[in-house]
Amino acid sequence: MTATHSSQPAASADPVGTPSVPGLVVAVDGPSGSGKSSVSRQVAARYGLSYLDTGAMYRAVTLWCLRQGIALEDAAAVAEAARRVPLVMGTDPQAPSVLLDGVDVGEEVRDSAISAQVSQVATNLAVRERLIDLQREYIARGAAGAGIVAEGRDITTVVAPQAEVRVLLVASEAARLRRRSLQLHGQAGDGMVEQVRDEVVRRDRDDATVAEFTEAAPGVVVVDTSELTFEESVAAVEALLPLR
Ligand code: C5P
Repeated sequence: MTATHSSQPAASADPVGTPSVPGLVVAVDGPSGSGKSSVSRQVAARYGLSYLDTGAMYRAVTLWCLRQGIALEDAAAVAEAARRVPLVMGTDPQAPSVLLDGVDVGEEVRDSAISAQVSQVATNLAVRERLIDLQREYIARGAAGAGIVAEGRDITTVVAPQAEVRVLLVASEAARLRRRSLQLHGQAGDGMVEQVRDEVVRRDRDDATVAEFTEAAPGVVVVDTSELTFEESVAAVEALLPLR
C-alpha cells in the first residue's frame, strides 16, 4: 500500500508576517505520526522558506540499497551505498521532490515496504554521518537564502542545534496511530490501526536507539498536537517564529 506523498495542501492561508531573521532556520523533530512533515511543509510554504524532509533521505538510501541488491544487514555495504547514492532533494515546499538517479521517488519512498526497513538503514552510524553532512549542506544553502524548515528526528539536537527555532512535535500514541492509519488507508478503524502499529510504534522504538526525539533537549519547545487540528498545529509552530 502506497501513501500519498503529502495529503496537505500547501500555502492555503496568508502568512501573518514575514520572518524578521534573514535565512531563518526552523528545526522540527518528532516521532512518526506527530504531524511534523505536513506541518513543516505548510509553515515553509506560507513564509517562503525552503523545506527539507530528512526522513525521505533515509528512505531514499533504503530504496537505493534494495534496488542495488544490497543486504541491509551488511553495514559496510550500506554505508558505502550511502556515500555514493545519487540523491538530490528538491526543497520547494509547494512541490518537494526526492531525486534518485534523476528520477523523483517521492511517492515510492513512502511505501510501507520502505517504512518497514528504513530503521535498519537509519541505525547505521556511518549512514547517519553521511546524511547529516548532506543535510547540513542543504540547511546552509537554505539559510543563505530566505531560510529553511528542516524536519526529522535529530535536527534540533544533532543536525542543526544552532537553529533559531527548535520544535519537538509530539502526540499521544493513539493520535499518531489514528493519523498514520488515515494517511495510509483512508480510515482509522480498529483493524486498520493495528496494521500501522509496526510502522509507528516499533519503528519509533528502533529509531530512538540512535536519536532522542521523545524528550526535548534544552531550548527546544514542545508542541503536543494530540488534540490539535492540522491548522491549529501549524498555528502553534508559527507562533514560535520571529516575525515582523
Ligand atoms: O519521517 P519519516 O517517517 O519519513 O522518517 C523515516 C525514517 O528515517 C525514520 O523512521 C528514521 O529511521 C529515519 N530518520 C532518522 N533521522 C531523521 C529523519 C528520519 O533516523 N532526522
